[in-house]
Amino acid sequence: MSRLDSGSESAASAPECSGPMSVLLESREVPLGGVRNMHVRRTLPQRDLPMVGAWCFLDRFGPQPTRMRVEPHPHIGLQTVTWPLLGEIHHRDTIGSDVVVTRGALNLMTSGHGIAHSEYSLGEEEVALAALQLWVALPESARHMPPTFEQHTALPRFSAPGLEALVVMGSFAGVTSPATVHTPIIGVELQIAAGATVRLPLNPHWEHGILGVEGDIEVEASAPERVPVDAEAMLYLGIERDYVDVYSAEGARAFLLGGEPFAEEIIMWWNFVARTHEEIVEAREDWENDTARFGHVPGHGAERIPAPPMPGVRLKTRGRRLK
Ligand code: MN
Repeated sequence: MSRLDSGSESAASAPECSGPMSVLLESREVPLGGVRNMHVRRTLPQRDLPMVGAWCFLDRFGPQPTRMRVEPHPHIGLQTVTWPLLGEIHHRDTIGSDVVVTRGALNLMTSGHGIAHSEYSLGEEEVALAALQLWVALPESARHMPPTFEQHTALPRFSAPGLEALVVMGSFAGVTSPATVHTPIIGVELQIAAGATVRLPLNPHWEHGILGVEGDIEVEASAPERVPVDAEAMLYLGIERDYVDVYSAEGARAFLLGGEPFAEEIIMWWNFVARTHEEIVEAREDWENDTARFGHVPGHGAERIPAPPMPGVRLKTRGRRLK
């Protein structure tokens, strides 16, 4: 995924996070570069909450008929987690990956120092498509590494009465995803049966959020109060919880994300996660000048998404307001 907007909400996390909370965060509709009529809703970053653990970006698009053409564009300092809900996405990148990701499979691209990729729907016609795309900020120890790409088509499951969970990233209820992670983190897709209340185990040292994906859920974040979370919102839960109870009347799909509060301050601009204004400027110039840092996506000609202009002011980190 690429951003059309330059991402003026340069984001940073502050590790302070005072305890359990229950804050409903609405997504907002945003334009997506190179794609006409594509309905994209962004849940992270939020003005008051730039990150949840290392998760620093969360977009959801569709379901809708789409001819997706996200042309080659660069990333640094992050992992992209592409999670199709419906349909297939053709991914190509500068390290030679050329794969189709489909429902139930994870595409995980670790940009490290720099990578570029494209994302297309299959064929020339509009096809039904829906997906989540999340970004994970890389810590200092991993953000300078060479880029890598993984696809996982058989993610482990956790089952309990009323719950089928697919462990996309990290560990949940003792079940661990094979996907490479660089900070303590989880991402789990939850399928909740009609009429079921399920208790999700949480790491009390981590912060968490629950994203509504399909159908309606109610989250019992502070008993006995239940907060409805629809498919356009995420409930932020804070830290210091051993579990949370989730109820669905009609049956629902949701996504649990969480992790250790990210200890480093980041700057996020366009498709880049860095630590300083200068690093962003350098990455932007490397992309605009077509240097070897990003390389060329095989199968593409000259098409690419140009970087937006830098703002007239220095990019700054910005801490969270939710504390
Ligand atoms: Mn992208």
